[in-house]
Amino acid sequence: MNLKQRIANVRAGIDAAALAAGRDPASIALLAATKTQNSDVIRAAIAAGISVCGENRVQELTAHLADGAYEGARVHFIGHLQTNKVRYVVGKVELIHSVSSEKLLTAIAAQADKLGIVQDVLLEVNLAGELSKSGFTPEEAPIAAALCARMNGVRLRGLMCIPPAASRPGDNLPHFQKLRQLAVDISQEMVDNRIDMDVLSMGMSGDYPDAVSAGSTCIRVGSALFGPRLPVSSRKD
Ligand SMILES: *Cc1c(COP(=O)(O)O)cnc(C)c1O
Repeated sequence: MNLKQRIANVRAGIDAAALAAGRDPASIALLAATKTQNSDVIRAAIAAGISVCGENRVQELTAHLADGAYEGARVHFIGHLQTNKVRYVVGKVELIHSVSSEKLLTAIAAQADKLGIVQDVLLEVNLAGELSKSGFTPEEAPIAAALCARMNGVRLRGLMCIPPAASRPGDNLPHFQKLRQLAVDISQEMVDNRIDMDVLSMGMSGDYPDAVSAGSTCIRVGSALFGPRLPVSSRKD
């Protein structure tokens, strides 16, 4: 299968899951997770119909921006972000999915203030309490959302999660349902606080149909589009 066929396959899977859940397929974006891919592959993906790219690493983002690799598509940041690198990301991407601490949130808002812009962000929630992953606990997320509402430099657009790798269909459904409910709860608490939460970033190659049925509006897919990556132990992201 070539890239175009793989994109079509994933898109068809999203659409089928959406229809099965009584949802409008057009309400779900397919983001291509482009980590470790080079600029030519990114250009090919965009030529084949990808309209949103998600980068994990600041270094790759910077190199691809300098290359003009994202032309014709929007770019998001989805990876772990260190506070001392926010200046390479804020204002360069449409949406930061991976805001995982108050310290990072504060640094992003400060950089946005400096640039005189408003940065759209999602809060990353660590639903399963995995020590290896960053993110707010479900209890901390509403507090961070309230903090966003008091900051000029950020606009909170929703929530994101990276649950454990699913070994079979249905495994991650409870996590996705929990994130959806958390977003609903936060939105209700925040009604008058100029918060417009309309993004739920959840679902990857191994579990996106469950994410769609639970209400995802943005599926982040890498290997199902680009093939397997090098093992985790041999790279850094
Ligand atoms: C790599 C990555 C993805 C895509 O993972 P696949 O399993 O290859 O689809 C999605 N989200 C984040 C944050 C990632 O780092």
